Amino acid sequence: MIPSYPLYINGQFKDSVEKQDIIDPSTGEIIARVAIADEKDIGSAISSARLAFDSGSWPRLSLEERRKFLLKISQGILDKAAELAKLETLNTGKPIKESTFMDIPSSAKTFQDIANNFQKYLEEKSPDVSGDAECSLVREPIGVVVLIVPWNYPLLIACWKLAFALAAGNTVILKPSSLTPLTALELAKIIQEAGLPKGVVNIINAKGEELGERLCSDKQVDLISFTGSNEVGRRIIEYSSKNVKKLIMELGGKSASIILSDVDLDVAVNSSLCSIFLNQGQMCTAMSRILVEDDIYDNFLSEFVEKTKRIRLGPGLDFQTQMGPLISSAQRKKVLGFVEKAKKEGATLLCGGRIPQDAELKNGFFFEPTVITDVLASMSIFKEETFGPVAIIQRFSTIDEAIELSNDSDYGLATCIWSKDLKRATDLAGKINAGTAWINTYGMFYNEAPYGGFKQSGFGKELGEAGFLEYTRLKNILTDKSPDSKPLVNYWYGF
Ligand code: NAD
Repeated sequence: MIPSYPLYINGQFKDSVEKQDIIDPSTGEIIARVAIADEKDIGSAISSARLAFDSGSWPRLSLEERRKFLLKISQGILDKAAELAKLETLNTGKPIKESTFMDIPSSAKTFQDIANNFQKYLEEKSPDVSGDAECSLVREPIGVVVLIVPWNYPLLIACWKLAFALAAGNTVILKPSSLTPLTALELAKIIQEAGLPKGVVNIINAKGEELGERLCSDKQVDLISFTGSNEVGRRIIEYSSKNVKKLIMELGGKSASIILSDVDLDVAVNSSLCSIFLNQGQMCTAMSRILVEDDIYDNFLSEFVEKTKRIRLGPGLDFQTQMGPLISSAQRKKVLGFVEKAKKEGATLLCGGRIPQDAELKNGFFFEPTVITDVLASMSIFKEETFGPVAIIQRFSTIDEAIELSNDSDYGLATCIWSKDLKRATDLAGKINAGTAWINTYGMFYNEAPYGGFKQSGFGKELGEAGFLEYTRLKNILTDKSPDSKPLVNYWYGF
């Protein structure tokens, strides 16, 4: 029997008339049916969150009480870790190793870390002001926040947003991607079991293009935290402008890694493979452009291509699988389109670039890991986000050339620098126009350290103290302490 998932509004599970089929991208089969929120459901989610914020207990709980709830959610995720990992893989196609060892434990850890850290982030040092006045700064929750999540890391990105927004004392409406809502809807059960007051968390599944405007323009919503494409991001900025809201925008990327010639070749190749092929390359921080210094370019390229050809494609649930399918047939078509266009524009395809023909993969949305060279900065594959397993490898001769190639992008999300000379690598990191620079590593996220892009990759931070403070507002309480304590108007009008 195909499982069915309701919406979660005001502490209750709610079914809907309209349902949506959820597909396993490894097989193309239906794995679940999910309720779809209509306009009325969105209205109820917003008003429940509003009521829970304005007159409920959540924003008024002691920090210790809030901490305990967050830890309960973390434990709830850990208790169901194996089940959640399996579900995440079924729904996204990502290799089960990735969901078991990365997505799910990191989701639980996000709640745990913020539970233990947010108290110190709330401490405000009040400034000394001149004259006889006292200034006291207070951090408050913002209110009702809408969290919109993409399909590439469905539970993890939901937890990054949810844990931080809740720790700050906000009430939320979480909208997962309509392609991958299952783990978020399981999380609703964990939240209910943890005993959070009703209305604090509402989780609705809806097609973004159908109900996005209703959700993102409502006067009762105070903040929207969005992770997704630039196209949708721009629309959300428009919707939100109707009633002026604070925004956190985590958008696309076209990141470049820089491999300097003093590096250990094996380490650089293996790490670069991860940096583009993990999660089938469907990562906002994917190092889709790999820039390699002249001296080692030929050796790097041949080892990279040889290892790419050995990557094992297979269904996500198989523990031997190294690369699963793309999320959907539409996504695969898009990626294939980029590769075909690059070939026409004169790039050289070294391996992959096709839909695999193996019988056991034929019903899934698989795509061969692909390596392309001879790419010019004018080609679309150089400029646009591919969001698939396609690596571009380029040669550079001087550091200035590497910097120029890296920064020749509308995006500014991340970079990786590989070198044994840490001083040189750190200097270089300072010159790259990206919000995160990894040196001799890739994809390391810490809940204590901020993450977020520059330029078209968005604005606002996720994680860390800076990411937490995004979900708060700063109030200045200023008290006159002059000895005769005369209100200003007395001086002004002389009454
Ligand atoms: P998307 O923009 O298509 O969808 C993201 C979310 O927005 C989904 O929940 C979707 O249902 C919703 N949505 C769609 N139309 C909407 C509308 N009109 N109003 C409101 N919501 C709407 O993105 P995607 O395809 O799910 O994810 C891939 C994109 O996400 C890539 O561009 C990737 O770079 C980006 N991404 C960025 C980061 C980051 O941290 N910067 C992280 C992960 C993914």
